[in-house]
Amino acid sequence: MVRKGRIFVSISRLLFPVRIAKSQHELDLLRPQGRCVVVPTMGALHEGHASLVGAAAEKARELNLAGGCVVTIFVNPTQFNEQADFARYPRTLEADIAACEASGASVVFAPDVGTVYPQGTDVLVPPLPPQATRPGLEDRLRPGHFAGVCQVVLRLFHLVKPAIAMFGEKDWQQLQVVKVMTQRARLGIEIVGCETIRDLDGLAKSSRNRFLSSDDRARSLAISRALRAASAEGNPSEAEARMHSVLAQAHIAPEYAVVRDAETLETYRSGRPGRALIAARVGTTRLIDNASWGG
Ligand code: AMP
Repeated sequence: MVRKGRIFVSISRLLFPVRIAKSQHELDLLRPQGRCVVVPTMGALHEGHASLVGAAAEKARELNLAGGCVVTIFVNPTQFNEQADFARYPRTLEADIAACEASGASVVFAPDVGTVYPQGTDVLVPPLPPQATRPGLEDRLRPGHFAGVCQVVLRLFHLVKPAIAMFGEKDWQQLQVVKVMTQRARLGIEIVGCETIRDLDGLAKSSRNRFLSSDDRARSLAISRALRAASAEGNPSEAEARMHSVLAQAHIAPEYAVVRDAETLETYRSGRPGRALIAARVGTTRLIDNASWGG
């Protein structure tokens, strides 16, 4: 089945190579009435993104959506709480377009800031869902981040008008925020989460991994190791203690290493789905990862 899908993608790519749109006008011309599946990204694409794009293209085919899979590539200035992080964020558009084409995307939408924010970046966002303000995780450590995420996702949804949007579980809190925001805004867009793609040794793929020195990369493996160790513990406080101890052995002091309710991201309650989540700086690079916990 997968092979058949791949052959179909290869043949259709020969016939219909990916098309590029930079403005809303170009986007509207490229997908005339087509309902589509969108994959929002900031570019610097790796195999994690490629798997999202492949899943989105497959879904568009299954559901016969004429607009196919649209990948957006936009480094959104409003979601960076550190200017230096925005400035050094990798920008690799040519390689990204090739990766989108190889993964079966129909259209790459790579707008500039003026297209996404024609009235400036001070666009108001509706009230943020509790997942974006209460857990004390990314919301506490990256003030303003989720306001920027919600702002850009709403603008991209408005421009692309997808039927379905796919996001990675790698950014678990973001996935919950976008799900609830989309429901509350009654946009009628289905939000689908896709599993985290990892290197063979367990490190979750990330556009930021390229900044790790080889020593830091080796130390960063403690993050996925800590998540695995947590899953062997039967109660949340023991699981959290285990994560801290595995990280400490690699000289990593996490910003958080917690077990939470998988949907609300608040205190874990027995009988509900749980999620173990870690954020840590390794050298100068901030990494996040998570895994299902309990049940
Ligand atoms: P980004 O370009 O970092 O904003 O990521 C774009 C999308 O790719 C988001 O929905 C991420 O959660 C997802 N993503 C990033 N890394 C991975 C990964 N390793 N596996 C699966 N999805 C990922």
